[in-house]
Amino acid sequence: MDNQGTTSILQNRIVLFPLPFQGHINPMFQLANILHSRGFNISMIHTKYNFPNPSKYPHFNFHIISDGLLESGVSNPVNIIKFLNSNCVEPFRECLDRLMFDYHVDCVITDANWPFTQAIADSVNLPRIVLRTSSICSFLAFAAVSLFRDKGYFSNLDSNMDAPIEEFPPLKIKDIPQGEITSNSEDVFQIIDAMVQQTKKASALIFNTFSELEEPDLPKLYNQFLMQTFTIGPFHKFFSASTTSLLTHDMNSISWLDKQEPKSVLYVSFGSVATMDTQKLQEVAFGLANSKQPFLWVIRPGLVNGSEWIETLPNEILESISERGYIVKWAPQQEVLSHFAIGGFWTHSGWNSTLESICEGVPMICSSFFGDQMTNSRYVSDVWKIGIKLEKGLERDEIENAIRRLMVEKEGDGMRERILCLKEKIDVCLNTGGSSYQSLEKLVDFITSLRSSTV
Ligand code: UDP
Repeated sequence: MDNQGTTSILQNRIVLFPLPFQGHINPMFQLANILHSRGFNISMIHTKYNFPNPSKYPHFNFHIISDGLLESGVSNPVNIIKFLNSNCVEPFRECLDRLMFDYHVDCVITDANWPFTQAIADSVNLPRIVLRTSSICSFLAFAAVSLFRDKGYFSNLDSNMDAPIEEFPPLKIKDIPQGEITSNSEDVFQIIDAMVQQTKKASALIFNTFSELEEPDLPKLYNQFLMQTFTIGPFHKFFSASTTSLLTHDMNSISWLDKQEPKSVLYVSFGSVATMDTQKLQEVAFGLANSKQPFLWVIRPGLVNGSEWIETLPNEILESISERGYIVKWAPQQEVLSHFAIGGFWTHSGWNSTLESICEGVPMICSSFFGDQMTNSRYVSDVWKIGIKLEKGLERDEIENAIRRLMVEKEGDGMRERILCLKEKIDVCLNTGGSSYQSLEKLVDFITSLRSSTV
């Protein structure tokens, strides 16, 4: 029985299973919408944690599985991923069994961070397609983590952080995709390794990216991942992320932007997961204030460890930034980035944010915190040359300097020109005959062809 009260025996369906974090939910729901618009019926298995409001998606069937997270007290993202991958095994298996009894399931599409689902799909002869919600370049860096470890780069982490990784240009040792987010790097390593190894066993791999951007890395991907690969992004150009937002968008951001000069405002947001301490928050605030540029700053409740919102910002800073800044708890990011007043985006280099910025031709300042963000930001600055990476972390002088370079100086114009070229390529790749368009056609054919093999 589904949430619409129907049991249509042998109706064809695709089952999707997102990782329940904002940056993973958005692309999985966008993919679901894309596939639904191509005629597929969608069943969404979702953890109780961050379960969406089904009434926003009357065209999908929802199936909630218990995860035990709330009762567990587990909090940081690495521990949550580890916990869910152990606690959701049986609930997922039971739910999938029920769905396969009620429907004819063509395949299951799961986030790459659900490695346990491969063995379950194999056990019931169901093709598993992996959605990797980040860039190809960062996925390849994840796939090289074992090599980085064997070469001893992990044990070097406190020494020569700026040294290049010869096996993986242009990454530096400090870009190795592990986390400040947890002290237990062995857990991070295990999570990454399981993701990579189980993805290698999948029937196909989908990326929310476009091949023109990541062309030089495609041969490496095809060499290491021998299944069919589909690059059909950017997904949000088909369907926006606004309905899947876990927090309420503050629409005053837009009315405030309406009053600003064209391309004058720096938009600042570090996504849905990253955290910082009070001292770093103050560095960000001083950097912004000292730059003397207008800014729209998202301070998400929970961004600052141990504080509710902005109560730790000294009044002198609040006064100085109130002259030219606006602070909100959560912004309608896609609308913000497409606003005429936006001239730059200071981001944590989450992949959705990076793609959304490229789509609007907005050059970036990058402050990566952990995981794929490290590689994304390195590529934004050193390969695509559409942004400035803050090499010292969050430090007020470097921040002020980067804001001026991006917003005021000629250097920013060069980045703006290059990112506008990429924006144009996106328009071409999504249109009839373009690379993402063709890749989506192939994905539709591929899933349809699974029907005959799974009947
Ligand atoms: N986002 C938003 N409002 C905000 C900040 C972020 O709607 O104020 C959205 C943003 O558009 C993106 C997602 O949240 O789609 C963040 O995903 P990303 O991969 O960039 O980072 P994560 O949150 O996973 O670290």
